[in-house]
Amino acid sequence: MTSLSVVPSPAKLVRAFFRAIPAAVALATFVHLARGGFRGLHTLGWTEAALVMGLLVGIGMAAWRRAMRSSVGAVIDLRDDLELGGGLISAAFIVVAIGGGELFPIVYLLMAFLVAFLPRNAGMTLLGVALVYDGLVTLGGPVVNVTGFLTHTLFLALFAGLYHLVLSARMAVAKRAESDAVQKRIREVEERARTFRLVSSGTQDSFSGMNSDEKWLVASVKEIEGAVHAALEIAETGLRTDTCAAFLLTSDDRSLKLYDCRSGSERVQREKFNAGEGIIGGVLKRRAPVRMNSPQGLKGVTYYEGGGPTVQALLAVPILEGSGLVRGVLVADKLKNEPFTDQDEKMLTTIAGEVLRSIEVERVMSYIRKTRDEKDRFFRAIEELNRAGSPDQVFVAVLEATRQLAGLDFCAVTLVSEQEGKRVHRVARMTGVTAQGKALEGQTFQDNNGLVANVVRYGAPLPGRDIKAMDRQVIFDEETQVRGLGALKIFPLVAGDRILGTLVAGSRKKAAFEQDVLRMIEVIAIQAAQAVLRAQLYEQMERMATTDGLTGLLNHRTFQSRADEILAQARRYNRKCSIMLTDVDHFKSVNDTYGHPTGDQVLKGVARIIKTLARDTDVVARYGGEEFVMVMPETDVQGAKIIAERIREAVMAEVFQTEMGPLRITMSLGIATFPDNAMEKQQMIDLADQCLYHSKRNGRNQSVTVAQMQGGRKLAAVAE
Ligand code: GH3
Ligand code: MG
Ligand code: MG
Repeated sequence: MTSLSVVPSPAKLVRAFFRAIPAAVALATFVHLARGGFRGLHTLGWTEAALVMGLLVGIGMAAWRRAMRSSVGAVIDLRDDLELGGGLISAAFIVVAIGGGELFPIVYLLMAFLVAFLPRNAGMTLLGVALVYDGLVTLGGPVVNVTGFLTHTLFLALFAGLYHLVLSARMAVAKRAESDAVQKRIREVEERARTFRLVSSGTQDSFSGMNSDEKWLVASVKEIEGAVHAALEIAETGLRTDTCAAFLLTSDDRSLKLYDCRSGSERVQREKFNAGEGIIGGVLKRRAPVRMNSPQGLKGVTYYEGGGPTVQALLAVPILEGSGLVRGVLVADKLKNEPFTDQDEKMLTTIAGEVLRSIEVERVMSYIRKTRDEKDRFFRAIEELNRAGSPDQVFVAVLEATRQLAGLDFCAVTLVSEQEGKRVHRVARMTGVTAQGKALEGQTFQDNNGLVANVVRYGAPLPGRDIKAMDRQVIFDEETQVRGLGALKIFPLVAGDRILGTLVAGSRKKAAFEQDVLRMIEVIAIQAAQAVLRAQLYEQMERMATTDGLTGLLNHRTFQSRADEILAQARRYNRKCSIMLTDVDHFKSVNDTYGHPTGDQVLKGVARIIKTLARDTDVVARYGGEEFVMVMPETDVQGAKIIAERIREAVMAEVFQTEMGPLRITMSLGIATFPDNAMEKQQMIDLADQCLYHSKRNGRNQSVTVAQMQGGRKLAAVAE
């Protein structure tokens, strides 16, 4: 371990020496005064002269140091204050000592000054210093003057105290005024921002105090103000107007408010005024420029207060958005009869466009700034949507996206399908709960007059505007109530010319759907529709590849692979498993007698019967032609035989209605069981087929197990 000793550098020592001068001189003066120095002009000698010089240098140094420090913004500490104050007090006492007691008010004034301008603790310390000084001079000198000292003390305290009080009162007033001014500016900025539609008029945008939102808002507002001002200057010079002003519509579109103007008149309306009246009212209504002139003075000039100057020529152009929305009006007028020309109109229209553009650019910019974060999340959500493969993944992604982006409390995806020519709506997925507290997932409801059904019917978002009695709205069907929503919007899921369903978005908060949020949900709805369509097509293709077109059962190929799986399971877990093959008896004659289409109908009916009697775990497939196959996991011979008999009986009992009257058929079935009869799939199928053949040879309309077939063969062999 090494220890370091710190030796101050010579430069530091020199600085410390100079730094000590003010305090040292003040102290020396103090001592000299206490010892009876400076008593009248006759006492002045070299010592006094040196002290006074030193004191002046000290005060100078202290003052200079303070000035330096405050110019670079450094903190001025107590020591700085005490040095300067101490120096000044010493000087004052020298003056009083030399000039006599009548000059003591100088000390009062100095004290008042110091207390007023220095921080409280510095002021109080210096007051103490002054009292000690005075005590030493008046009490410690050759003539003890107690009354004088008490008077001085009283007045010093009074001066210092009073001044301090007055000052703090004035400070409080100034502080209030300052905060009022800041608040006013904030309100102004808010108002302007609202006029530019940078924020909506709802309360949720209200910001009290400084925050980051406000900073970009202030920047945006300033940006627009500058641009509009420049545009008006150009118009004023170019058109030689007396007044050139921009009025913008307030957020409710009912009034106009002066935005900026260049005018020789003091009377341009500063307050809001009715946007529907006079010449300007006409411009806003017709959304077209107006040019007028009259030597007698124009009527209907609404933008001057209390009968302004006589306007003889006027040109007003609307500030129009691309969508046709009016944002305000740009007015130019002249007090002499010098009509505005086509050229002037063109120029003012261009300038109006420029004003609008700067407002729009800034609006987009601030929107981007404000929602950059949201945008990121938005694109991520869209990506997520596009990645989703199955419809279910799509629904999850949609709900997640809307929940995250719009903070929704209630959200659902519904799908529409046609069943027997009627529309049926199904709630595919939802978040949030209904009034009954149930989740609606998987529920279906018929086409009705609810909002979801109407959105599908008309292919447009609903409700169009805010609805008052939100709780009484039927969103899905009469039975399902959703309570406590403050805002609701249902978007159609449109893909091409097909409406696939809806996206229901609800929020407890009123006015939750600002324009940006709505736009975002709308984009999600479009993306979701595409994703749902994609997923449905994919599912459909998969279905087509695995199922049989006529009967809807699995096809032969799928049967083969499913049978492999089930046998593998049975083998692994040492379980039984049966396979059953069926063949319609004399089916050729059905076709021959009733025609092929009726044959098809019969096949569909048989498929339906087998499917209904099969269990969920059984695999039913069309083996080929009029042959079906069923794989039954966990099923022994007895179980399989029971099911086979049920199917056989049900088929036999079924009456098919045909053009040539009722038709009945029968069916033969063959059963093979793992591991009793065979270990391999193909062996099982072959055995079941042999059983089937056995049935055909023995009168048809029966189910035959391997044991029955083999027992039968033995019997036959014995008989021969
Ligand atoms: P058996 O009782 O011996 O089974 O007599 P069968 O007439 O049913 O004879 P088989 O099983 O050999 O006959 C199969 C017939 O089924 C041949 C064919 O015309 C008919 N068929 C096969 N597939 C279809 C189909 O998709 N639709 C219709 N309508 N007939 C089919
Ligand atoms: Mg056949
Ligand atoms: Mg047959």
